[in-house]
Amino acid sequence: MTLAITALRVFNDNYAYLLTDRETQSAATIDPGQAGPVIKALEKKNLELTHILLTHHHYDHTGGAEELKKVYPAAKIALHKDDVSHLELKPALKLKDGDSIDFAGTTIKTIHLPCHTRGHVAFRIEDHLFTGDTLFNAGCGKFFEGTAAEMLTNLQQLKSLPPATRIYCGHEYTVENLAYAHRADPDNRKVQNRLQNSRKAQAAGNFMVPSTLAVELQTNPFLRLDDKNLTRQLKTDNQLATLIALYKIYYNVSP
Ligand code: ZN
Ligand code: FE
Repeated sequence: MTLAITALRVFNDNYAYLLTDRETQSAATIDPGQAGPVIKALEKKNLELTHILLTHHHYDHTGGAEELKKVYPAAKIALHKDDVSHLELKPALKLKDGDSIDFAGTTIKTIHLPCHTRGHVAFRIEDHLFTGDTLFNAGCGKFFEGTAAEMLTNLQQLKSLPPATRIYCGHEYTVENLAYAHRADPDNRKVQNRLQNSRKAQAAGNFMVPSTLAVELQTNPFLRLDDKNLTRQLKTDNQLATLIALYKIYYNVSP
């Protein structure tokens, strides 16, 4: 892959991403909640923006798209068809599950994960996965427009990807999430170690993306719904019940 992937911080805790193809000097952005940091990065490297990829309709992921489109009119906006009605934007690409987007000769695959919003998607480029607000480091997004059963299906789908898959999430919630994970699964040493390390990374101001699916499988309770220690702690006997019990711990409400 000739692509380079850069994470950009937008708002307080959002990650936007820049994909750069060195050969053609073209770039794509994923979830530009704000245009400023993206434009700055593009201008610094003299890149032409060709795609604006949106995982879902929420403002903190889409807020910069309109301004970017003004500065780079050739850029194609891509959003799942079920989220289009929420925005004023007119996406050139109305996505559905399995759609491929060609970016400078690289294929970007669309994985529909309805729940956080009806049209939430993840974008997959080889072993790189951009998960928006569905899967976070050690956590999972809110079920704003879907059910726990739908999120369970999404999580099972993501779990089946190769463990080496790099995970680029939409928010920096690693430390808070690991604190909840530790509360749910107090005997998990891998969670404890990751919590310690991520506190250090946070104090140093380091970005904590990408994670890997292998790390998430060990420390993200939402991907460990049939783990014996976790279900014993939560007193649950099936994955859906475990998911709902975890959601209450993380978000203090029933889904
Ligand atoms: Zn969101
Ligand atoms: Fe968000």
